[in-house]
Formats: sequence, C-alpha cells, structure tokens
Amino acid sequence: MAQRQSEAIVLRSWPFEEADLLVSLLTRDQGRIKGVARHAMRSRRRFGGALEPMTYVRASYSEKPRQELVRLDAFEILWSPLAEPVDYARTAALEMVAEVLEEVLPEQAPDDALFRLALAVAEEMHLGRVWMPATYFALWVSRLMGWMPALGHCVACGVDLRGETVWYSATADGVTCEDDRRGESEALPPESVVEAQKIFRSPIGELATEEWSRRRGIHLRHFAIALLERNLDRRIRSARALERA
Ligand SMILES: [Zn+2]
Repeated sequence: MAQRQSEAIVLRSWPFEEADLLVSLLTRDQGRIKGVARHAMRSRRRFGGALEPMTYVRASYSEKPRQELVRLDAFEILWSPLAEPVDYARTAALEMVAEVLEEVLPEQAPDDALFRLALAVAEEMHLGRVWMPATYFALWVSRLMGWMPALGHCVACGVDLRGETVWYSATADGVTCEDDRRGESEALPPESVVEAQKIFRSPIGELATEEWSRRRGIHLRHFAIALLERNLDRRIRSARALERA
C-alpha cells in the first residue's frame, strides 16, 4: 500500500456503507480522486469539519494496487469556507465551483491552473460578495478548457463585433451578429463583452476591490454558465440555484 500526501480541495461526500463516507477530492498532484473515509460518520476526529465542499486540505491517503478508491487517512484543514458566515448565495456559489470541478476534469488528470483558479475564487467568495468570483470562475473555466469562443467577430459572416451586442446559442458554437443569430439565441450586450475582457486581463484580487452587485455581470454569468452547460452537456444545478438567490 502506497502512502501519499497532497494538497486537495474537497468536492463532495456522500454516505457509503455503514458509517463510512465516500469523498470526491481534487488533489493537486493526482487530479480528481475518490476515497473512503472510514467511520467518518461516527468519528469526527480525523475529518470533522473538513468535508464541507471547497475545504482546502492537506490530505493523507493510501493507495492499494488495482483499486479505484483510495483510503483516506486524515485531512489537515488549510482553509475552510466555514471560517466565515454562510448564507444561501455563498453556499450555492461555493457548490457551483465544486460541481463544475467534478464535471470538467476526468479522474486522475492533475490540472494546476484549475486548482489555483478554484482556490483563488473560493477565497474571494465572501458573504454578500459572491457575484464577481462566481462570474470570474465560470468564464475562466471555459477559457482554460479551450471552450471560450472569440467574442470579437461573427462566426457566420466574420463581421467585426467590437462594441456591438453579440448573440450566442445553447445549441451552436461561437457568437454571431444579430443578422446571423441562430434559433433561441440570447444577447450579450457590449458592456458585458468589455467586462469579460477585463476579467481575462485581471487578477481576481484586483477585481475584488470593485463593487459587484448581483446585477453586475448578470448577462455575462448567464453566458458563461450556458457555455459550460453546452460543453458539459448537462445542467449545473448549483449555478441555477445561485441565480435564484
Ligand atoms: Zn454575421
């Protein structure tokens, strides 16, 4: 049995057999893995408080040859979302990050850029201030995955769309001008395109100094979530919960 230690982000956990929990983790070294936390339901000592989605831990675990599930031995909390007050919106925003990470990455595929992105946005998700980091995350994931279309021109006719409203569709790639918009297209106003460019240029800490209400970036968030849902081919439940907040 090989003992391992890695920084990791807890994505989710669910009951597994008797008093055990099955835990999905994004580790820095090995990517996404699943493990069993034995007796975690009964004994809170080794894992107490560390199983909340988006908890950043140093995970100690053991791998057995030819076994898909690792055995989780202990988590040392490095950062916990529970260190700050939570409400419905903050919980939904943190869950959105965890849910998307669970879906975008295959198991055992480490991705340091995504790992760092997830940590940075989670740490900026403060009570009442989740809208910028949620938007930032949804856009950047698509960019890192290579799913972000060029927003500067129409994919159908090639016309320059800078300063114009662009149109996107849940059923087709790229953005178009108004004349070429596809069935059930939605509009992304020019100020949202400018906001997206700013997000791609700026570290999150710099944007965090600005005031972001729920309304700011609402079109951009809608666009980014639609893009993720199109590429993942499924609904992101927590993102929809966040929009209802
Ligand atoms: Zn066009």
